[in-house]
Amino acid sequence: MQEHRYDVLIVGAGGAGMRAAIEAAPRARTAVLTKLYPTRSHTGAAQGGMCAALANVEEDNWEWHTFDTVKGGDYIVDQDAAEIMAKEAIDAVLDLEKMGLPFNRTPEGRIDQRRFGGHTRDHGKAPVRRACYAADRTGHMILQTLYQNCVKHDVEFFNEFYALDLCLSENEDGELTATGVVAYELATGEIHVFHAKSIVFATGGSGRMYKTTSNAHTLTGDGMGIVFRKGLPLEDMEFHQFHPTGLAGLGILISEAVRGEGGILRNVDGERFMERYAPTIKDLAPRDIVARSMVLEVLEGRGAGPNKDYVYIDVTHLGEDVLNEKLPDITEFARTYLGVDPVTEYVPVFPTCHYVMGGIPTNVEGQVLRNNTEIVHGLFAAGECACVSVHGANRLGTNSLLDINVFGRRAGIAAAEYANSASFVPLPEAPTTMVDGWLETLLSEHGHERVADIRTSLQATMDANASVFRTEDTLKQALKDVQALKERYAHIRIHDKGKRFNSDLLEAIELGFLLEMAEVTVVGAINRKESRGGHAREDYPTRDDVNFMRHTMAYKKGTDLLSDIELDYKPVVQTRYEPMERKY
Ligand SMILES: Cc1cc2nc3c(=O)[nH]c(=O)nc-3n(C[C@H](O)[C@H](O)[C@H](O)COP(=O)(O)OP(=O)(O)OC[C@H]3O[C@@H](n4cnc5c(N)ncnc54)[C@H](O)[C@@H]3O)c2cc1C
Repeated sequence: MQEHRYDVLIVGAGGAGMRAAIEAAPRARTAVLTKLYPTRSHTGAAQGGMCAALANVEEDNWEWHTFDTVKGGDYIVDQDAAEIMAKEAIDAVLDLEKMGLPFNRTPEGRIDQRRFGGHTRDHGKAPVRRACYAADRTGHMILQTLYQNCVKHDVEFFNEFYALDLCLSENEDGELTATGVVAYELATGEIHVFHAKSIVFATGGSGRMYKTTSNAHTLTGDGMGIVFRKGLPLEDMEFHQFHPTGLAGLGILISEAVRGEGGILRNVDGERFMERYAPTIKDLAPRDIVARSMVLEVLEGRGAGPNKDYVYIDVTHLGEDVLNEKLPDITEFARTYLGVDPVTEYVPVFPTCHYVMGGIPTNVEGQVLRNNTEIVHGLFAAGECACVSVHGANRLGTNSLLDINVFGRRAGIAAAEYANSASFVPLPEAPTTMVDGWLETLLSEHGHERVADIRTSLQATMDANASVFRTEDTLKQALKDVQALKERYAHIRIHDKGKRFNSDLLEAIELGFLLEMAEVTVVGAINRKESRGGHAREDYPTRDDVNFMRHTMAYKKGTDLLSDIELDYKPVVQTRYEPMERKY
């Protein structure tokens, strides 16, 4: 076992982790621990843009952006946090520009902006150009720019290190403090303990619990799982976002920027069906509304293809030059993966699991909450694994690249300031006991179940039973399936018993996190007997503000994989906007 000591330890080198590192490193001794090489993080796959009310191409302001975010999130957004995000968005984009990010420009040389779903002028009157972008590779540019700036600030990276456990210490007054992280080094199989004053989780999402997803294979909810297993809560996990335009049958993302640039959704009859569902902003309605409309078209028999199970996105009227200049990557995706040329043909699309709105609850400084009011000292979270909550029940497109920059920065500053004011709290006496025992069990000879089989079954039941539309019956089926899979998981067999690059072992560990995150998702969804944002219950089709205008807080009772989940609720922070009917 090797021990390391840092003032600030950041777990995750995506956009949120590296934005935090850029703030923490000049202020305190900082290291980043990441299971992927930093520039392979999923942030690099983000396509369409990052929004800020710069008003570079038309009138806009942060108040309209706040309103859109709150309404887009179906009113369980914490409005104080949304306001901070919309205000700080402008500097967040300018900071990236100063760091060297090559944004697309207007002819006058300003950062260009384009339309995206749910972003409107003057409280819903018409779509507004708010998303800053670098072709359809915005996330790639952000990730590279942040990495280069981390190198400039001498941030230390531990690449291909998997965080497996968090160490907490409780004082006489019952206050919790985070003291360290236990990690597994992929190259050697060695266990490392990182002793730190501040720990920031920035481990991304958990979309791989679904079969149809735009998420990378690595998005397995590790950070959320680690925290949850420590008895800390997860917030609003029943809200997953299904992005309308995944390539049909594959789930690979076709960015909303396609509709921002004028792309049109059509059913098998060629009808622009969004005119019926969202007459004012049509194809640029928020994602939950568009995804449901697409599924309804298919359910009502207006789907296309041999099985009538998808609709089309039509960009043929945009012309080859616009596609090459502004949407080159996704034009290529359609050609490569479906053999369809968007220049002349409609592209088959269907909703794909894209983003988790819920996560580790934090306040606006990124401090992790242990219940509705108290924090865990020295523990922070930012990015997709966190829930501030700025996305409520449905995130608007381009608000995540913004979230990771605004709240990554805030968490980095808060973590460094805390580290500079606090002293090291001792680690537990034998910090690796849990992990040692866990790995030994996983590698023991007794099991017979295959990791890949359990993962395939998990993804199948989540797709079938907990996707765009849900009912009590389908969700209960999903819960039964997930719990049965957890029992099978206790008997898995890992064939590679070696120490070097044992990816078999790590995949098994990731599957454990996924199973647990799926269970939290489904339990929360069963209990939320209403439809709101990304959570659409056919048996409770309307929003119920009297009983459910509140966040779900899920706690694990016990340390066993099969332990029960207990639910509690947290009030929504409402400042300026009363909940309204959500028409577009
Ligand atoms: C295809 C696609 C396109 C998108 N397009 C857009 C867009 O145009 N605009 C927008 O706003 N949003 C977009 N999003 C969403 C947005 O990109 C993500 O929500 C955001 O980038 C998440 O950033 P993050 O830093 O929180 O996590 P990630 O970038 O996913 O990084 C997670 C990091 O955590 C590390 N990690 C995870 N588990 C462990 C562990 N156990 N131990 C150590 N390290 C660990 C990983 O190594 C990685 O470095 C898109 C998402 C996808 C999938």
